[in-house]
Amino acid sequence: MDLLFSFAAARLFPRIAVMIKSFAGLNLYTEAFLRLIYPAACGVCRAPLELEEKGICSGCKITLKALRFSPEEAAISQNFEFLDGAWALYPYKSPVKEIISGIKFLKKRWLVSVFAEDISEMALRITGDTSYHAVIPVPIHRSRLIEREFNQSELIAARIAESSGVPLRSGRLRKRFQTPPQNQLSRQERKTNLYRAFELLKSQAAEGKQLLLVDDIFTTGATAEETARALKEHGARRVDLFTLARTEIRS
Ligand SMILES: [Zn+2]
Repeated sequence: MDLLFSFAAARLFPRIAVMIKSFAGLNLYTEAFLRLIYPAACGVCRAPLELEEKGICSGCKITLKALRFSPEEAAISQNFEFLDGAWALYPYKSPVKEIISGIKFLKKRWLVSVFAEDISEMALRITGDTSYHAVIPVPIHRSRLIEREFNQSELIAARIAESSGVPLRSGRLRKRFQTPPQNQLSRQERKTNLYRAFELLKSQAAEGKQLLLVDDIFTTGATAEETARALKEHGARRVDLFTLARTEIRS
């Protein structure tokens, strides 16, 4: 059956047949056929993907790996008011930029898996140094959640929780009002816009706790600081931040 199948496939779809040859298992046959109908393209450069490539091509994966901050570079040194510590996994550059946009604006939530290995490695390092009670994603406003269908920070937080064993606690915080797009604003304007934008719904979620906040992009830290404020005001003992990407440091 397998021989017949491979023969037919080789005659009809040479490229698929080559891919099938290097794999075993029925699910890969299924995937090969699905790829024939819906050819998968790299989430960054649009190059066609080989069967073993998931989400992005190996070229873009190499670029991504090379971008990853070393443990020393990952720490964000800034004088925070509420946060105790903060780390970023990558600089906010291509292909990180395109992958994050793909997740947020094209609703390709599965693209988060491209970061999985690196997230897990850093999560283990951070949670090995501090014992956290919970991993908490920075919430997005309800109207944005309806439009996007998911909170990208929650997808990242779920990966951290999964690899570290620290429980994921979403729904403990709420964004009280929608803020205008922050990318063109100054540090002070961001701070003003976000002032008291976050509210803790259950104060016992913070009291005496060591918490790891999770966000997708760190620019000035205004969002993370306001989130940490809500947690600290309800008695959180320690609040740190894990962010996927960090924009260029501006003075
Ligand atoms: Zn690519």
